[in-house]
This record gives sequence, structure tokens and C-alpha cells, in this order.
Amino acid sequence: MSEQNPVFIPGPTNIPDRLRAAMNMQTRDHRAPDFVETLAPVLEDTKRVFGTSEGQIITFPASGTGGWEAAICNTLSPGDRVLVGRYGMFSHRWIDLCQRHGLQVDIIDCPWGMGAPADQFEQALSADKSHQIKAVLVTHNETATGVVSDIAAVRAAMDAASHPAMLFADCVSSLASMPFEMDAWGVDIAVSGSQKGFMLATGMAILGVSPKAIAAMETAQLPRTFFDFRDMLTSNKAGGYPYTPPLQLIYGLRESLSMLFEEGLENVYARHFRLAEGVRRAVDAWGMRLVAKDRSLYSNTVSAIYVPDGFDSNQLTDQAFNAYGVSFGVGLGEMNGKAFRIGHLGSLTDVMTLSGLATIEMAMADLDYSVELGSGVAAAQGYFRQHRSAFVQTAA
Ligand SMILES: *Cc1c(COP(=O)(O)O)cnc(C)c1O
Repeated sequence: MSEQNPVFIPGPTNIPDRLRAAMNMQTRDHRAPDFVETLAPVLEDTKRVFGTSEGQIITFPASGTGGWEAAICNTLSPGDRVLVGRYGMFSHRWIDLCQRHGLQVDIIDCPWGMGAPADQFEQALSADKSHQIKAVLVTHNETATGVVSDIAAVRAAMDAASHPAMLFADCVSSLASMPFEMDAWGVDIAVSGSQKGFMLATGMAILGVSPKAIAAMETAQLPRTFFDFRDMLTSNKAGGYPYTPPLQLIYGLRESLSMLFEEGLENVYARHFRLAEGVRRAVDAWGMRLVAKDRSLYSNTVSAIYVPDGFDSNQLTDQAFNAYGVSFGVGLGEMNGKAFRIGHLGSLTDVMTLSGLATIEMAMADLDYSVELGSGVAAAQGYFRQHRSAFVQTAA
């Protein structure tokens, strides 16, 4: 297995050398002044990526799933109702987490390939005259289907229903790759993690928390200790953590923010659009179809692609891995065997993306797909040549 090949899974993502170097640190005393002086500016700068100036950034040593758990147990009480749309594996898993915490979950089932159902949310919220629903949970970018949802439309639906519920968004696979505007969209908790757009090792949940969610924390009755916002906020104020912080990840996050700001967030988003569009041109050229049902729903970080009838997407991803040492995303849940996924987020260039398209084409040819070798690559090349980036991104 060559470690030089990038991965094309939608997280964890490729770690640029600069960030590997930043995380390659000897143990330091987290109570010493240099860490105390590091943490506060890192948290402050992270706000820009979330699009918040009113909210606070809260981190935990955990993966994104821990961030979901923290969001729920800091703001809600047993028996509280939450409203959720289910349109993929990640929105499904968030529902499961709420149910296991004893919440009443009002589920709106949507076909996979669709996004958050703003209209149906509005109906459900308008019907909830006594304001039993305490939170609306939305997966911004459904990584299982390659669908991005319109969070501003969800906020507008909540406002149209004049409903006071909080709005929580899972932005694990969109933050730092696609625009996210926590304040403008009225998001009360946004949940992300270190291993996707931030291009770091897995191990840190990163949350944006609004003043309204902070206020809810004072009365929420769900039990929490490790994930208690109150302990974390109090300790952060003094420059520390309520327990041992993931030091290497925090120094890594500092460097990741520098990389994102040096490229410029707008350029980061534009690069992700360009890479995604190259992949979509390839999918067209192969005569295949995205799981996302509509252009407005296309994710710029991951594409889920149906394989033709009679083919098994798991064989395709196995072939790419076994024959060429390149990982692609498998079909999750309902999509198992039917679709594979190309992750195109984080530290990735046009050229790296072309290598992924070339690899999956070889795997398709090996399995007798009726796809002409080079057809998808050529379509992406054509697009990339016409839409060259303003400067060459160093993904080293
Ligand atoms: C990756 C991901 C998560 C978090 O998964 P972890 O493995 O716990 O980090 C949550 N939601 C979405 C949409 C994701 O893509």
C-alpha cells in the first residue's frame, strides 16, 4: 500500500504535511503559560469559520458524534420533543442518539437524495401551538448521499411559524469546505469535527454555540459530566480545559486556521466547488447518476454515485483499494451496494482529483463496466482547464 495515494473518502481527509508537522509535538504541560496563551486565540479565530461573532466555540476530545451528544445533553431535558428530517445515514444516526437519550423525536422521513424538508418543518412547527418542540435538527451536508441542505430556508420556515425552537446543524462534513453562516442562519448549535474540512487527525469535536443555547444549558436536565458546557466554558476562560486537552490537535487547529485564512475562506469554498464540478462532469461522462436529486442539492464535498443496474458498488470500491491502493467511500445504509462515494474535501487539488477519477475508471474497466477509460478524466480535465484556480494551491 502506497501512502502517497490520497484517500477519496469523505473523512477523515488527507492531512497536509504542514498540519502533520504541527501535530507532531512532544508532550507539553497544558498548565504552562504557552498553552494558556494559545487556546483563547484559537477558539476566537475558529468563530470566523463558523460565521459567528455572537456565539462561542466549544471543543471536546471526541469525534463528531461526541459533538452531537454534547449539543443534545447540554440543552434538552428527558422527554423533550425534537423535530428531525431523515434523509441519509447521518441524519438517521442523530435521531438514534436522541432516542437513546429519552427524547421524543418527531421524524419526517424523506427520500434519500433529498435535503432538509423546510416546508414540512414549517407545517409541523405551525401545528405545535404549545411549543412542545424544543429543537429542530438538521444535517447540513448528508455525507451518505452527497446532499447539502439549505439551512437559511429552515430558519425562514421556523420564523414563518413564529416558533421559538432552537436550530441545531450538523456541519461535520461541510464546515471549512462550504459556506456556513451560523449567525446569519440563526443556528443555535453547529457541530463539526477535526478530521474533515480542518484536515486534522480525528479526535476533536468542534462546536459553535449561540447565546440562546448557552441560556438553555442552565435549565437542561439531561445528565452530562464529560460533555458539560459549563465546565468547559469556565475552564476555557482561564485558558485551560476541565481535563487533559488534546494538545496536539489544538496546535494543529491553530495551523489549520492559518492555512484556511491564507488561502482565504472564499477561495477554499471556490476550490471545493471546482473540484466537485470536475467530479460531476466525470459522472456525466460515465453516463452515471448522482444520488442527490437536484442540482441545488449537490454537495461540494462528497458525491454519491449510483452504479449501473447489475453492478455492486462494494465490488468497485474493493477493486480500487485492492488493485490500486486507493480508498473511496462505500454506499451507506440504503445505498449499500448501490452507490459509491467520492470524497472531495480538505487538502485536495485538481491534479489529485484527476488521479482519483483515473483510478476509479480503472477499477470500473476491471469489472467490465461499459465506461470508456479516460472519459471521465477528460471531462474533468476540460472543466479544470477552463476554470483554473487563481493560484496553485499547495496541498503538499
Ligand atoms: C463524519 C460525520 C459525522 C461525525 O462522525 P464521527 O465519526 O463521529 O466524527 C457526523 N455527521 C456527518 C454528516 C459526517 O459526515
